[in-house]
Amino acid sequence: MLRTLIFSLLFSTSFLVAQNSYAQIASGDSTVIHDFFTLKVAAKKTLSTKLYRKYTSILFQVKSESSTPMRVLLNNETYNVNTSILGEEADANSNFIVSQQPFSTLSIFSASEIEIEVECFYTPSIDYLILPLKKKKQGNCEKPTTIPPSIWRQGLPEPKTGRAATTVNHCIVHHTAGSNTDTNYLNIVRNIYVYHTQSNGWDDIGYNYLIAQDGTIFSGRDAQGLADEDNIQGAHFCGKNSGTMGVCLLGNYNTSQPTPSALQSLTTLLSWKLHKENLSAYDSFLHPDAGGSYLSTIAGHRHGCATECPGDHLLALLPALRDSVSNQLAKCIPSSITLQDQNSATLLYPNPNTGIFWIDQYPNHTYSTYTITNTLGQVMLTGKLSSFTKINTQLQTGFYRVELRTENGQVSHKSFLIQSN
Ligand SMILES: [Zn+2]
Repeated sequence: MLRTLIFSLLFSTSFLVAQNSYAQIASGDSTVIHDFFTLKVAAKKTLSTKLYRKYTSILFQVKSESSTPMRVLLNNETYNVNTSILGEEADANSNFIVSQQPFSTLSIFSASEIEIEVECFYTPSIDYLILPLKKKKQGNCEKPTTIPPSIWRQGLPEPKTGRAATTVNHCIVHHTAGSNTDTNYLNIVRNIYVYHTQSNGWDDIGYNYLIAQDGTIFSGRDAQGLADEDNIQGAHFCGKNSGTMGVCLLGNYNTSQPTPSALQSLTTLLSWKLHKENLSAYDSFLHPDAGGSYLSTIAGHRHGCATECPGDHLLALLPALRDSVSNQLAKCIPSSITLQDQNSATLLYPNPNTGIFWIDQYPNHTYSTYTITNTLGQVMLTGKLSSFTKINTQLQTGFYRVELRTENGQVSHKSFLIQSN
């Protein structure tokens, strides 16, 4: 079987983005298989078992906790499995392995006795040549080209119907905790889809987008015509998915750094999304499911619950990612000059502005004071609000946040951009 998979020239520069064409050059037509069984592994003895058939991915769920990682051998590929997480935790990614080649033998070594539930998946492969069709000049905040689910999902069971739309205030960054060297990205995405739908029982793949190490972006959860795909509520954030868009980088960023290509695609994707939603990269909002706590517009999975995801290295890069997105946003043409406050009829306009703007709460007069802070959280200006207030900030170009406060302490805030002439 021809196993060529070429994702070339997709993201040659940050400004020139190719439109793809897709040509299916070979197709496997077997069905998806999902088998499971329980194993007891004795301490310090390698358990080797021949499987009935070939599988492409495997999930381990630990029934008895162990402090030492378990070593797994699939064909000649060695993997470490975290055995300190019991059962179905919010993020079992680190225990899900997509094998580089289909495997039919399994060897496990554990320093201590351990009982595990094993789920094996066979996801038939398809091979595509994905060719750059034409290049067009794009602005800084246009939607990057993605591979749609109708392409990468071919030959697999359709996702369930029934979608929920959500207004996104938070882009949540994940990693798969998978291989950093496997370049068969199409196969990896397909196996994750099978894992999420067949094993987790989810309607569709959990993420809104997946980004490969070479910068290729896959659109994840199928919008099924309900709303834009980036406003479809996924399953990725500790059961607190409303208001979020999930983006997952293929690879393990506890053990290595993301590639520049993947980070570039992540920056482009988030810049487009934040621009579309009129959000600043430095803003934070009350997350409806997060127990009244604020969550950044760009956050990691770990900001929602205890998980390794998105890995120490990628988590440490989030402040730099916010800077890159903010730089890109500053070059974008505003999609709207007015902002409708989420919690009131208050309008801040124009946005961006030259340092002079109005806060219009006519005919209501909900908020009585305002505080303007810079991206470092330093207070730049405070004052009182009438129902219609002109504010002359005399501040320099940059992103700022205005916080509006009522007499009884209720707070609303909005980000805005000053572009001094
Ligand atoms: Zn995650």
